[in-house]
Formats: sequence, structure tokens, C-alpha cells
Amino acid sequence: MKHVLVCVAWPYANGPLHLGHMAGCYLPPDIFARYHRLKGNKVLMVSGSDMHGTPITVTAQQEGKTPEQVAMEYHKLNSDSIERMGISFDLFSHTHTEEHAEVALSILKKLDDNGYIEPRISEEPYDPIANQFLPDRYVEGTCPHCNYDSARGDQCDDCGKTLDSKELINPRSKLNPDAKIEFRETEHLFFKLSEFRDVLLEWLSEGKEHWRPSVINFTRNWLKEGLIDRAVTRDLDWGIEIPREGYENKRMYVWFEAVMGYYSASVHWAKNQGKPDEWKKWWENEDSEHYYFMAKDNIPFHTIIWPAMLSGCGYKLPYDVPANEYLLLDSSQFSKSRRHAIWIPDYLDRYDPELLRFYLASIMPEQKDANFTWEDYVTRINTELIGNYGNLMYRVMSFANKNFPEGLSSKNPVNNELNEKTKIAFDKVSEALEACKFKKALQAIMELSQAGNIALNDAAPWKQVKADREACETTLVQFLNFSSSLSVLMSPFLPESSQKAWDFLGKDSKIEDLGWNSALDFQDSFELKQPLPLFTKLNMEEILEKEMPPEETNELANVKPEVTFDDFKKLDIRIGTVEKVQEHPNADKLWLLDVNFGGPVKRIVTGLRGIYEHKDLLGKKIAVLVNLAPAKFRGEQSNGMLLAAEGEGVVSLLEPDKDIEDGSEVH
Ligand SMILES: [Zn+2]
Repeated sequence: MKHVLVCVAWPYANGPLHLGHMAGCYLPPDIFARYHRLKGNKVLMVSGSDMHGTPITVTAQQEGKTPEQVAMEYHKLNSDSIERMGISFDLFSHTHTEEHAEVALSILKKLDDNGYIEPRISEEPYDPIANQFLPDRYVEGTCPHCNYDSARGDQCDDCGKTLDSKELINPRSKLNPDAKIEFRETEHLFFKLSEFRDVLLEWLSEGKEHWRPSVINFTRNWLKEGLIDRAVTRDLDWGIEIPREGYENKRMYVWFEAVMGYYSASVHWAKNQGKPDEWKKWWENEDSEHYYFMAKDNIPFHTIIWPAMLSGCGYKLPYDVPANEYLLLDSSQFSKSRRHAIWIPDYLDRYDPELLRFYLASIMPEQKDANFTWEDYVTRINTELIGNYGNLMYRVMSFANKNFPEGLSSKNPVNNELNEKTKIAFDKVSEALEACKFKKALQAIMELSQAGNIALNDAAPWKQVKADREACETTLVQFLNFSSSLSVLMSPFLPESSQKAWDFLGKDSKIEDLGWNSALDFQDSFELKQPLPLFTKLNMEEILEKEMPPEETNELANVKPEVTFDDFKKLDIRIGTVEKVQEHPNADKLWLLDVNFGGPVKRIVTGLRGIYEHKDLLGKKIAVLVNLAPAKFRGEQSNGMLLAAEGEGVVSLLEPDKDIEDGSEVH
């Protein structure tokens, strides 16, 4: 048994969470935490909303609210999304709490006492129209590293580099696009990050074989370039106050403050448990392991800045930082600010959270960016989750329940290939989950399930049941045990449906009580409950229609090949009045119309019966193509064609909008 601290990056409380957050930050640690809990390890999983800083104040200004209103609103919304997705935090807190402020100030003091904090005068961008300094997101400009033209004062979203607003090329004020930015002197507290370069290089030099290559390489390259000291306060009135003379209008800088949340949330959790020292089991225990989960834009904060702060306080350094690459939406990056996203609350209003957990785990962006499309989502759910796994579980349980309603038992020695395969898969899945390779773990489960499908078809209990009922019972006990194993292996990924399967198997226990190793237990009798399918198949057409409405375009759809004006002139279209309406003697969808063109009368057969009634047609002025070659319809000759428009489910006759003589030409 070990203590595992699962730290999850803190989302800014300035918008709803989207699928990218789920795939990048929240689902991986949840699968990991659930696995370790099943293993019997002591897990503490914490995170919360990042309430402070300019992302919140900028949003508040845009929405005409106070920063606190905005932050609390999104904190509630996001806490709800996280819960509904089954993400099992021990505490999902936020940074606008007394507990967090207290811990943050104590860490600042500790770093100060240890000589790592220093007041310095720096030049910061100032907007002379708004009469204020422009921290972080209040200033935008071109990134000096990649030339992205909307880089912010604190970070470039394109290349991921952290920035100092002084480095921006052509800086602009977010408050006044016309303001000419000045750099004015102001005092701030600085963290001597540069002093930690060697400590960090040494820390990263060994025992990091389990780190993802992308994370370790990114960090080493960053360190090679050297570290610069960074301000830890900001000219802002939203955030944690600094108890220091002259700092009344300054607040703790959010990059410095939010990462402390891992520590403060652990302390806060212990306090909530009524065991105020309990957090020390994770933070002061030699054998504990700290994992930090996030998406790649957050890597430097968790492999350089936070470790430097931890090191400056003498606290424990991360054991692993399994940062994910990005999940793309239709091949471009999810973006809160550009509103290019599928929001979790919207998803949850329409679909089952477990389907999303399965899909995101199966394409998880661990080594490279992954791409979300609705087509792929539906295909994978229907063919893999349901076609391979769900159907197997349901087939076994429902067949067994139907044919052996009194229960089944078999004491025959179990010794077959499938058991061996289960053991091998169990080791593979365990190993992959330990190493934070979630996609690989899920793949191993799906391969095992596929092997189960093949074995079931070979054993064919539906044939055995007629020929040899006892042999059939033995087979089914075997496959019920197999289903039980699968549901345990699947439970970190799909906790709800796994427990549901467990219930159908007639077990009156929770998977979490029996633990991970129960995947290899063998039970020789079963009394099943009436099973239901674990999942419902998705309808591709319905979903695509709902999620991807046709794009509006200026182009007309299905335009026919071009014709010349001479071609058009060949058509002779005239106005005429319907004089007589008769039913076609041999076709109940056809009318016979006699149309008067100012003397001459032509008989026209039309398919408008059922659409236009007798009385609606009689006396109507209509447009008719009169030089169309005559054609026979069920024995009646038609000498022209009336013109009608046809839309979706509507047919509408063309008629002149003024009174005009019969026989008039249409040009
Ligand atoms: Zn850049």
C-alpha cells in the first residue's frame, strides 16, 4: 500500500469545460485514481477552479459582472460537469477560499525566509487612457518566438512559451485598442527562479525513465535556455492580497498562486475530514508518489516553476508529470476564447457520460494530438464499445439467465485458454495503467473482449443447451466469470456500467470493495438478475443531423449545367386559366385540367391531386410550358406542363401577381 497524490491542473473559472479539457486533464487522472484505489493504495485526488487573475477579470468586463460573480458561476458549472462525468475528486475546491489564501501566504513567506523572494522595480506596460497597468491578458502582441499575432502578456497560446509583456512585438492594450502603451516603473516581488536551474537539471538527470519523452525533452530544452526571475505580484485588484506596505493595490500573480492549490487543497481536504494532519501522509511521507496531470500548455508550470517553488520550501517534488497532447475538434484546436468547442454541459444534456469516457480514452492524446469527430465517435461506440464489449456481456448474461433462471453452478476444473488470456491481459492492463498509458490499457481490455467473443462462438452454448445441458452450464459459468473479470478491468474507465454488469451477475457487492485482483477470482455458482443491455446503440444519421447542421453557403445547391439564352428562348411559357378540373379515370394521383389560353384550350395531366383540391384549382391563373412534346399518362394525353416550385414537403403553383390576359408570354 502506498500513498498516491493525484494532482490535476486547475481550470480557469471563466468558461465551461469542453471535451479537450476532459481528454487532456480530467479523464486520465480519474482512470488512474480509480485504478490505484482498486489496488488498495491510498489516493488523494485534488484540484479546483482557478478563480483569480486576468482571465477572470477580462471575462467579467466582457460579461458586465464582477470577477467574483463570474468565477463562482463557472466554478459551480464546472464542478457539476466534473461530477456528472464521474471524475472522482476527493476535493474539487477553488482558489478564492480562506484556506487557500492562508497556505499561499505561508508559502510566499517560507520562500521569502529562505531568501528566494525580493522586491524589485520593473517596467510594466501602462495604458495612459485607462490610467492603469496592463497585467498579463490585458496586453496582446506578436510572439517573439513564433510570430503568432495574438500572444498575451503572460504566454503565447500558439507555441506555449511563457512571456514577459516586454518581449511582445507591437503590444496593444485590451482596454483601448488605440492606446499608446508606455512602460512605467512599478515595484513587484520577484521569485529568484534563476537560482533553481542547477537543482532542477540534477533532479531531471536521473530516474525519469517513466516520464513521457515529450515532457522531459520540453523541460530539458527550456532549462538549457536558462531561467529568468519572475514577478510574483501584479498591479490588479482581484486576487490574494499581499500584507506588505506599498502593496495595497497589488495581488499575488496567478501563475505563482494557482499551483499552490495542490498543497492548499490537500490541507483543506484534511480539515474537511476532521483530521487536520491527515494531508501529511501524502506530503511528508518518503514513500508517497505525486502525479500531476495536465495538457501540454501547462508543462513548464509543473516541471519547472512549481518544482522550483517546492524545492525552495523543501517540499516533495513530482514523481511524474504525464502531460497530454491536445484533442483537436475537426482537426483544429479547441478554444474557449474562440468558442470552437463541444461543451461538456451540452454533451451531457444529450448523451451518456460513459460513452464519452470510452471514446476519449480510446483516442486519448498521449503521444500526439488526437482528433474528435462525431462520425468517429458514433463508429467507435457502436462497433467497439457495443459491438465488441457490450454485446458480449449482454449475450452471456441474458442467455444464462434465460436458460438457467434458477441459477448455475459448475465445480468442474477450469482450465482453458480464455483463463490464460485473462491473466495475461490483467498483467498488461495493470502495467499500462501504472505507467499512465491509458489508451494502451483500454486496447488490451478490448482485445481480451474480442478473444471472448471468438471463444463464445466456438463454445456455442446455444447448441450445447439442447445436446448437453450440463456442459452448457459449465460453459456459461466460465463465461460469467469472464464477464466478471472484464467488468473489473473496465471499471476505472467505465465505473457505472461496470458496476451495473456486476449487479446483473448477482453479486451484492461493490467492485471497489473487492478490488483490482478480483478480476482473477473464480466463482463456481451464479444467481443472476434480469440483465439489460449496458449501452444503447447510437444512430449516426440522427446524431450528425443534430450535431453538424449543414453549413450556410452562398452557393446554390445542385445547380444544373449552364444553358445559353437561345436555349432558354426555345421554351414557350404562357399564362392560362384553369377552366375545368376532372379526375383521371385510371390514376388517383392525377388531375385532368383544361386550361384556356385566351381562346385555345389545352388538356394537361398533372400530379397535383392530393396536393391541390378541385376547388383550389378551378379558375386559377397558372404558368404552363406549352411547347413541350405531348406525352401520355395512363392513357390520357398531356399537352404541356404547368410550372410549380417544390421545396421540402411543399409544392406551390406559380401564378402571376397581377391580373393579366390569358395567353400572355412568360420571359
Ligand atoms: Zn509563440
